[in-house]
Amino acid sequence: EFRHGPSTVVVPTPNGDVAFGQEHPIVVVAGPCSVENEQMIVETAQRVKAAGAKFLRGGAYKPRTSPYAFQGHGESALELLDKARQASGLGIITEIMDTADIEKVAAVADVLQVGARNMQNFSLLKKVGATGKPILLKRGISATVEEWLMAAEYILAAGNPNVILCERGIRGFDRQYARNTLDLAVVPVLRSLTHLPIMVDPSHGTGKAEYVPPMCLAAIAAGTDSLMVEVHPNPAKALSDGPQSLTPESFEQLMHDVAVVSKTF
Ligand code: PEP
Ligand code: MN
Repeated sequence: EFRHGPSTVVVPTPNGDVAFGQEHPIVVVAGPCSVENEQMIVETAQRVKAAGAKFLRGGAYKPRTSPYAFQGHGESALELLDKARQASGLGIITEIMDTADIEKVAAVADVLQVGARNMQNFSLLKKVGATGKPILLKRGISATVEEWLMAAEYILAAGNPNVILCERGIRGFDRQYARNTLDLAVVPVLRSLTHLPIMVDPSHGTGKAEYVPPMCLAAIAAGTDSLMVEVHPNPAKALSDGPQSLTPESFEQLMHDVAVVSKTF
């Protein structure tokens, strides 16, 4: 269906409605890669909330390359996300990997994340489409723009108009310096092709904490509507994605810079 003008995805959270879209302020989603324990998730939620984040992210079910790597705490992590939601008032974004878990995850999450590895899991897309919950659809690791937009179309066709597209880096040829190639050019490309709100995730896009702040600012200049940033109270001890996680202190600094840059673009 062709639309004139951008669409807005409005997500109710305990702290009030948050709107994603071109006509609204930049929405920042922050939190650890994985939910590790109650103290770390509640503390991180409070710190990122105080710095201006509107959503807490954190994985309960983790899509790991190795089956021997930490897989997430599953259901018990969902309970901890619920506690962090109550303690901070932040909305919750967490990944859904399996159609069998939809009810459990949807009971806690304000936005369901479909991860890069599941971007073309069509049965999952149809099922999350049927929930009516807002969906964050991450770009597949080597997905073309058309494949990505058609994956979004599966959700829309299932009757769910609330889709946010998240660029999280694509597989390049040189992983020596950056985990992925963050495709910032795709932001204006998406703007010209789709009405859906856009998010950029420089944490997975670069894989290295020191590159995350400059790429967040560049993403705003490129026209993104929202950002996803991994934040961990002690990145050196993180069970997953420590090297790309900001400390709460560096996240606070980033949020100051985000406010400055957002005034210009
Ligand atoms: C994540 O957000 O924790 C994640 C696993 O992201 P991606 O699907 O982009 O790799
Ligand atoms: Mn991660």
